Amino acid sequence: MDFADAVEQHFPGSLDEGRFVEQTREVLGPFGFTAANTLAIVGVCRDELCRTLRLAVQRAWGEAFDITSLAGMVNCGHTGLKAAHRHAPIEEGRERYVYIVMAHIGIGEGGELGHSRRAGRPGLSSACGALSGVLAELQSGRVDTVLHWDDIEQSLLRRRLIDRLPWGATPNLAELTHTAHTLVREELEELIAVAADASKADYAIFTGIQIHGLNGEQLSWIHRPYAMVEGKRQELASKLTA
Ligand SMILES: [Zn+2]
Repeated sequence: MDFADAVEQHFPGSLDEGRFVEQTREVLGPFGFTAANTLAIVGVCRDELCRTLRLAVQRAWGEAFDITSLAGMVNCGHTGLKAAHRHAPIEEGRERYVYIVMAHIGIGEGGELGHSRRAGRPGLSSACGALSGVLAELQSGRVDTVLHWDDIEQSLLRRRLIDRLPWGATPNLAELTHTAHTLVREELEELIAVAADASKADYAIFTGIQIHGLNGEQLSWIHRPYAMVEGKRQELASKLTA
C-alpha cells in the first residue's frame, strides 16, 4: 500500500486539485458562468494545508467569499450565505455563484490515513486534526456531546458526526471523512434552499474531500457536482476529467 493505492481505495477518481479548479470554470463556461459575472463561495478546513484550494479558486474565479470552518463544516448559516449572495455581480438581472466546499485528509507515503507533515515541526502531524480528535474519542468509548461555547466549531462537529454514525461504530479516518463530507454537502444544500433564489440566480455546487500527500500532492475527490441554471439541474460529473 502506498499513497496512490490508498487514494484509489478510499477516494477513487480523485483529480489533481489545480486541474480540478481550472475545470470548474471550463465546465461552467457553456452555462454562462465567467470569472467576471460569478462569485465563488469557498469553504475548507482552517488548516493551512487547505489553503492551496482557496488560492486555486482565487486564480480561477477571483476573490471568493470565505465560509471556512474546522473540518470544512458549513457553520455560516443562511445569514452568511445570504451575505455572500448580496456580494455577487449582477449581469442582465441575474446573479451567479459557485460553491466549492470540502472536507480534507492527509495520507502518508505508506497509505497511512491522517498523516501530514508541518514545516519546522519534527515528526508527523494529523490532518484533519479536528476529525482525528473525534476519532480518538470514538476509539476511547467516550464522546463529549456537550455544546461548549468556547469550542463551538468542534462541539458542533462532534454532535453532527455522532448523529450520523451507527451506535457504537468506530469508523476509520477515511470513513469518518466521508461522513463529514456528507454533512458538509447536506448543510450547504439546506442553506442554499433557504438563501438562494433560483428565479434570479444560477449556481453550481462542487463538494468533496481535499487529499494531501506528504510530498506535496494535492488531490480532490469530488462528489456529484451540478449546476442549477434557470432552475434546471445540470449534472457535471462526466465533464470533469483527470
Ligand atoms: Zn482539518
